[in-house]
Amino acid sequence: MADALVSPYGYTTIVIGQDFVCSKEGFRAQKYVHRKDRVLPPPPVTRRKGCQAKIRLAQRDGLKWVVTKFVKEQNHKLMNPSKVPWWGSGKHLASEDEKDKRIRGLSLELHNVRQKCKRRCAAYEEQLNIILKDLERHRAHVKKSFRYSSEHKRN
Ligand SMILES: [Zn+2]
Repeated sequence: MADALVSPYGYTTIVIGQDFVCSKEGFRAQKYVHRKDRVLPPPPVTRRKGCQAKIRLAQRDGLKWVVTKFVKEQNHKLMNPSKVPWWGSGKHLASEDEKDKRIRGLSLELHNVRQKCKRRCAAYEEQLNIILKDLERHRAHVKKSFRYSSEHKRN
């Protein structure tokens, strides 16, 4: 997620972050369980338990990733680590090689996201400058017409 917020003080704050939530977060809405057009069998109803555990990362200054929120309490029993699939990628447990590959892939992705953010940031700055210029022009115009009308009154 990336949002540009223009604060009332005129500067732009870019907020970039990512939430990692527990797979048992939230509850599956009943409409998904009972929908009539369902093709696949309904998912096991016990999977989601409204768990609040999460970790939130946010990017500061477009460089540093920091943990801004960490809820470690799980409201359910944890899976045995040996049974946890690597990012649900399939039936097989991932090898160290695959994990390395995955991490390399994610690092590259992060790098690309950063580049994209930089470009977006430049675009926002340009937009902001256009708005500021417009504002300046508008202000000059208002000043001029004010001067005109007060001179007009005097004559
Ligand atoms: Zn949990």
